[in-house]
Amino acid sequence: MLRGATNTAGEIGHWPVAFQLDTSRDAGADLPRCGCGSFGCAESFAAGRNMADAYGVADTAEVFAAAARGDDRAATIVARAERALANLAVGLVNVLNPALIVVGGSIAENQPIHVLEPMRRAIAERAFRAPAAAVRVVPAELGGDVGMLGAVFAARERLSGRGEWFL
Ligand SMILES: [Zn+2]
Repeated sequence: MLRGATNTAGEIGHWPVAFQLDTSRDAGADLPRCGCGSFGCAESFAAGRNMADAYGVADTAEVFAAAARGDDRAATIVARAERALANLAVGLVNVLNPALIVVGGSIAENQPIHVLEPMRRAIAERAFRAPAAAVRVVPAELGGDVGMLGAVFAARERLSGRGEWFL
C-alpha cells in the first residue's frame, strides 16, 4: 500500500478534475467548493452527498430519478459527475498504471451505468493504450463497510509486525 510521506496518499476523491478555463477569472470560479477547502475535486461533483445538495434533496436517488425523467438540472448534475469520474479514471490509469480500479460507495452500487461505465469509456477513449488495455474497473464487493474492513486489515498487519509504514 502506498501511504505517502505523511500517510495521506490515496485520497483520490480530492483529485482536482476541473478548473475555470477563463483565465481572467479565479481558477475556481463557477466550480463547486469541496469540503477539503479546494475546488474542482472529483468528490465535489460525484459524491452522493454533494450531488444531492446541488439538487436540493436529501437522497441522491432523487437526482438520478429526476435526470431519468428528463429534468435538465438533474441531468446536468449527473453528467458533471460522470465527467469528473471519467477524468479521474484517465488520470489514475495514466499515472498509476493499475491492474484494477475498485469503485465503492452507494452510487457505484446503485448506479453503475453512471459510475463504472463512464470511467471505462473514458479509459478506452483517452488513457494511454497499454495501461488502458491492462486495467479493469469493477464494483467493490464488500459493500458499505469496505473502509472499516480496510482499517481492520491494516491494524492487523501492524499488530503482526508486517504493516510497516512505507515511504
Ligand atoms: Zn476536495
